[in-house]
Amino acid sequence: MRKHIVAGNWKMNNGLIQTETLISELKQQTKTSDAEVMIAPTFTNLWHAFESTRQDDIEVIAQNMHFAENGAYTGEISAGMLKSIGIKTVILGHSERRAYFNETDDSLAKKVDTALANTMRVIFCFGEELSDRKAGNEEAVVERQIKNALFHLEASAFKHIVLAYEPVWAIGTGETASPEQAQDMHAFIRKTLNSKYGETVADDMTILYGGSVKPNNAKEIFSKPDVDGGLIGGAALNAEDFYAIVNAF
Ligand code: PEP
Repeated sequence: MRKHIVAGNWKMNNGLIQTETLISELKQQTKTSDAEVMIAPTFTNLWHAFESTRQDDIEVIAQNMHFAENGAYTGEISAGMLKSIGIKTVILGHSERRAYFNETDDSLAKKVDTALANTMRVIFCFGEELSDRKAGNEEAVVERQIKNALFHLEASAFKHIVLAYEPVWAIGTGETASPEQAQDMHAFIRKTLNSKYGETVADDMTILYGGSVKPNNAKEIFSKPDVDGGLIGGAALNAEDFYAIVNAF
C-alpha cells in the first residue's frame, strides 16, 4: 500500500543531550497530516531515541547497516543488532554513503537482501549527480541504480521497500528539484518498476523525494501525484520546520 512518509535523516549530528532535546521538541509538535513520521538519529542514540518515543507517533530508524549478519567487521552494525533494540527500518544507499564510503550497487544489493531477511523495511536511496542531469542521463542512471540493487528481488519483497529519489545535486545544497522534475522522475521510477513487476507493485510503491525540502517548498512538491513523501536532511534538525513539512500533506 502506498503511504505518505516524512523521514528525517539526522546524519552525523546530535549527541545524546541534543538528541533528547530535539526529541522532546518533536513531541511538542502537532501532526495534522496522515504522514508516517520517522527519524534517523546516529547509531549511538538509536536505543535512547527508540525508548523515548515508544508512546509517540514517531518511528526511529537507522541510517545504515552492514550486509553481514555478524563477524569481523570492525566498526560496523548488523541488522540483527538493530532489530535487537527495536529498530525495524533502515535507510540504505544514501548518496553520502555511496560517495564517501564506496557503497556500490553490488554491496547495496547485499544490504537490501540482509535487511529483508531480517524482516526489516528498507528506505532505498538513489539519484543522479549534477553531471548526469546536465548530460541528460538522469533517467538512465536512476534506472541502473534501481535495477542493479533491486531487480533480483521477488515482487513480494517490494512491500517492504520504500524508494527515495534524491538527486545528489539537491542534497544539502539549498537547490531543489522543481516539483515538475521530481514528478517526472517519480513517474519514470514507477514505469521502470511496472516494466518488470507490473502495475500493482508500481502503483503501490511509496516513493519519497529528498533534496533540500523545506517548509516553504514541501507543499508544492508533495502535491505531485507520484510524490509520496520526503526524506529530509537539514530541515529535520529543527522540530518546527520538520513538522511543517510533515503537515504539508
Ligand atoms: C538527505 O540527506 O537525504 C537530504 C535530503 O538532505 P537535505 O534535506 O539537507 O538536502
